Amino acid sequence: MTENTATDHPVNSLTAWTGASAILFDLDGVLTPTATVHEQAWQELFESYLSSRPEVTGYSESDYFDHIDGKPRFDGVRDFLASRGIVLPEGPTDDDPANTTVQGLGNRKNRIFNDIVSTGVEPFEGSVRFLEAVLERGLKVAVVSSSRNAPAVLEAAGLSHHFRVVVDGVVAAGEGLPGKPSPATYQYAAQLLGLPSEECVVVEDAVSGVQAGEAGSFHSVIGVDRGAGRQTLLDAGATVVVNDLDELL
Ligand SMILES: [Mg+2]
Repeated sequence: MTENTATDHPVNSLTAWTGASAILFDLDGVLTPTATVHEQAWQELFESYLSSRPEVTGYSESDYFDHIDGKPRFDGVRDFLASRGIVLPEGPTDDDPANTTVQGLGNRKNRIFNDIVSTGVEPFEGSVRFLEAVLERGLKVAVVSSSRNAPAVLEAAGLSHHFRVVVDGVVAAGEGLPGKPSPATYQYAAQLLGLPSEECVVVEDAVSGVQAGEAGSFHSVIGVDRGAGRQTLLDAGATVVVNDLDELL
């Protein structure tokens, strides 16, 4: 076997999953380009809400990165509103999306997100090719996502029939599992597949997800660079980094 002379690591993108029994996929950014759908749903939510508050500065793209990105949903609502000097009543967790409360607005964002994905999500072509190839070779697969919307996104992308095991935000909460960068949700998926972690490959596009893979005893961690940066993902513990999953074929 020829080793990639550009790296001193013996694993390259063609051997990263050789000998593994299963592939554990992150969803948003790995199988589907849905990270941007979250951004779009937040924009729709706050543009609509602020149209009733003409005295405050309107929503702009940088607000997403400054106040919302990466935070749990209701923290995002609260922190964005605080940036405009707005304090709303909290409301109950299951508050009606029509209500102007922190929880109501958060639930409205979720409804907008689900409406967008229900019109269809186009999965990454290279990811689908890789998924089909690993299934053909008899490997098991699972999805491990922090999102509570993973089943809806998989359905909209036409991928749900491939995944019997989906460990998403709802499953994690129900099982009391800490989120990424803890390896717990990935380890739980391996357990549901009936495999030791050592036989499972983790595929991730986010730093926290790569760290989760690195912290567990997995076969390897494949980083997909969708903007996080190749070196950043390697530094976080990725075994190899690719720009597209079909580079692994
Ligand atoms: Mg991701």
